[in-house]
Amino acid sequence: ESKLLYKTDIVVIGAGQAGLSSAYHLKKLGLVPGRGFVVLDQSPQPGGAWQYRWPSLTLSTVNRVHDLPGLAFSETLDNDAPQVRANVAVPHYFEVYEKTFGITVYRPVKVKVVCEREGRFRVETDRGFFAARGIINATGTWETPYIPEYRGAEKFTGEQLHTKDYQTADVFKGKHVIIVGGGISAIQLLDEISQVTTTTWVTRRPPLFREGPFGAEEGRAAVAAVEERVRKGLPPASVVSVTGLPVTPAIEAMKARGVLKRREMFSEITERGVQWADGRAMNADVILWCTGFRSSLDHLMPLMLREENGGMVMAGRLATMVAKDPRVHLVGYGPSASTIGANRAGRAAAMELMEYLGLRA
Ligand code: FAD
Repeated sequence: ESKLLYKTDIVVIGAGQAGLSSAYHLKKLGLVPGRGFVVLDQSPQPGGAWQYRWPSLTLSTVNRVHDLPGLAFSETLDNDAPQVRANVAVPHYFEVYEKTFGITVYRPVKVKVVCEREGRFRVETDRGFFAARGIINATGTWETPYIPEYRGAEKFTGEQLHTKDYQTADVFKGKHVIIVGGGISAIQLLDEISQVTTTTWVTRRPPLFREGPFGAEEGRAAVAAVEERVRKGLPPASVVSVTGLPVTPAIEAMKARGVLKRREMFSEITERGVQWADGRAMNADVILWCTGFRSSLDHLMPLMLREENGGMVMAGRLATMVAKDPRVHLVGYGPSASTIGANRAGRAAAMELMEYLGLRA
């Protein structure tokens, strides 16, 4: 029995920065929203993963949210005070953006799996099926928190949380919190939590602090390094691993408070806490894993796009095209996993995919 509900040329999966930029360009190049292409998103509201960020993440503590094409973020801010919450301001921006450009997003619609059926893609969702000739995947990373495996993790009687679970430091009052990770999120949460309770900070490698501003030149070099990896089919590396951590006034203040003392990674988890290779042990109530995210791509599994190492060989002008199947583009993956990168990649993906499918006038 065929449950086919909808036939279209291109399905865009995800309506964050990457999906909206792609949709803008598909429309600009002549595809009609809701007919020539459809945008599906599993979240209840506009805003991509920004709607889930913790409340203390403000426009002054994010790196920078780059403008989507055609409408500046600042134009949608009625209040540009730096303490405006990112989880309010960005969803509002995306909502105005969708309305301004007539980009209909079907939500909440979760894509469960994409497979190949009679020369088309069959996109199976929790709300029905779509048949498409091409896919722009823009599902981000938020749904795929990464926690490394350590011996004994299942024995721990305290609480283990991930960045994704964080809302406010207050819930940790009176508890000892071990914060794991050397990225920007780890440092921001360490900053907040260490102001209300005792903390221990552990990282695998000594963190690389970078004095002075991060220039455009260095930015390009960092992105180029990730692009080179994915063109070879290697799994993308996190951007901080190539950019280092900027020394901000907040970091200076943490140093002064004595909370920025990094310890090396423990070797196992015990019932009451953690233990290092030399036998030292420490009790803890909470282990907070700020160990990042992976690309949310499980729904593409049946297409068998991955290499054995978990990466994919990427091609195309901005490395958004999956070499094994040029009908699939990934935006917000690898070198385009930033708001500015996703923005540019959306344009390249829309152009290349429409060209490949013969949809360009
Ligand atoms: P998302 O915003 O995650 O959007 C993906 C969308 O896909 C979501 O709406 C989700 O609901 C949907 N989706 C996922 N799976 C499915 C599915 N199976 N079916 C249907 N829909 C699905 N980058 C910057 O450039 N500047 C910053 O300041 C910055 N700060 C950050 C702060 C934090 C705490 C984090 C975690 C990341 C930050 N980033 C920042 C990185 C940032 O997340 C990306 O640059 C960008 O916002 C990602 O956009 P996206 O469209 O790829 O993904």
